[in-house]
Amino acid sequence: MAEGIRRRSWAEPWKVKVVEPVRVTTRAERESALEEAGWNTFLLRSRDVTIDLLTDSGTSAMSAQQWAAMMLGDEAYAGSANFYHMEEAIQTVYGYPHVVPTHQGRAAEHIISKVLISPGDVIPGNMYFTTTRMHQELAGGTFVDVIIDEAHDPDSEHPFKGNVDLDKMRAVIREHGAKRIPYVSLAATVNMAGGQPVSLGNISALHELCRGHGIPIYLDKTRIAENAWFIKLREPGCADKSIREIILEMCSHTEGAWMSAKKDHLVNIGGYLALRDERVFEEARNLVVVYEGLHTYGGMTGRDMEALARGIYESVDHDHLHSRVGQVVYLGEKVAREGVPIVKPIGGHAVFLNARKFLPHLPQDAFPAQRLTGEIYLEGGVRTMERGIVSAGRDMRTGEHNRPALELVRVALPRRVYTQAHMDVTAETVLEAWDRRDAIKGLEMVYEPKYLRFFQARFRPL
Ligand SMILES: *Cc1c(COP(=O)(O)O)cnc(C)c1O
Repeated sequence: MAEGIRRRSWAEPWKVKVVEPVRVTTRAERESALEEAGWNTFLLRSRDVTIDLLTDSGTSAMSAQQWAAMMLGDEAYAGSANFYHMEEAIQTVYGYPHVVPTHQGRAAEHIISKVLISPGDVIPGNMYFTTTRMHQELAGGTFVDVIIDEAHDPDSEHPFKGNVDLDKMRAVIREHGAKRIPYVSLAATVNMAGGQPVSLGNISALHELCRGHGIPIYLDKTRIAENAWFIKLREPGCADKSIREIILEMCSHTEGAWMSAKKDHLVNIGGYLALRDERVFEEARNLVVVYEGLHTYGGMTGRDMEALARGIYESVDHDHLHSRVGQVVYLGEKVAREGVPIVKPIGGHAVFLNARKFLPHLPQDAFPAQRLTGEIYLEGGVRTMERGIVSAGRDMRTGEHNRPALELVRVALPRRVYTQAHMDVTAETVLEAWDRRDAIKGLEMVYEPKYLRFFQARFRPL
């Protein structure tokens, strides 16, 4: 893993201007909080959490520039100046001509799924994402995973585990026919595989293959800056390209994209569709007024859009990405060195603990990753998230659990929020749970909501 980031240490390219106190709790307080939350970290109150690594979504710290931008909010119902700033930033950095704003990523997924998918369609993609697949299914489509096999193997050191397997893609086209495939759903990076990147070569080859069949590629570019960082570091011939050049090249192979601005764009809320196709744009722009708001705000305030516009430029800054991904690698290496099984290579936004290997005595039906999130919380007030059988939900047709190969705990790092000392304490907390892993038992699910159950399900210790 010679990543270049290791030879010389880095420091965050910012200093702290405002601090937000966090509460340190006792073990007894955490025990009662976890029980009240039904062993679901999504149901904990944040005041009971000391280091919050539940998600990198909407949890980033904004820069002084972004906070200043908030004062430039033009809260006009129609035609806000901030929308045009945001639109220009998206056109400049990603190269898509048309923008439809939404309040966050899943709203963009909802609209694009409605526009592009007809009942009975098949949507190939590089591993599912929870909300993405849900909207594809609600629109009548079926998601088919065409990611390379290495992505399902937490120990594979493949540098681009987000890549599409072109043979799998050809097989889907043969089986269903190009007419039943409205688009390929390509994510950069792949969250569920461990924040793993797609290579530029793979995107280009996929484009070549799809073009021959008239199938467009739509990009979930939620973490595209982190993906571009890995391309620069790992892909032959890309070391001298700038992050912005790499991003433009990635997008050039795609017909459009959806975005959860709460991740890469360093804001607390926001999203959008970015599109080339005039007809798709027209329909999406029409639908957004039904579900979100007028097409020049789409559920965001003017100040949100202004902060987002600035966040786009900050997100593609070399030094920002160096320290951002460097912090994730720092934490990952620290726990891996002590023998804790993690997904390799270490991803862009999170360290993923391999719960199957951490708790090998538990069957997947005892929700090992869910249990481990609870144990890590009890140990040190560190909040993480399950990414395994609970997140995978049930098969809509058979009603059976989907059983993913990966049973993971995601330790996600908000951008520009925590220090190296927080990372040290997090690592120590995981190690405490690791030391007593043999005594950790499973869970049973006592409440299961119908949609995206991981958010609200409740559990009881066995
Ligand atoms: C978070 C996320 C989404 C959904 O976006 P929200 O802003 O949470 O609605 C879609 N795709 C990926 C890869 C994500 O990580």
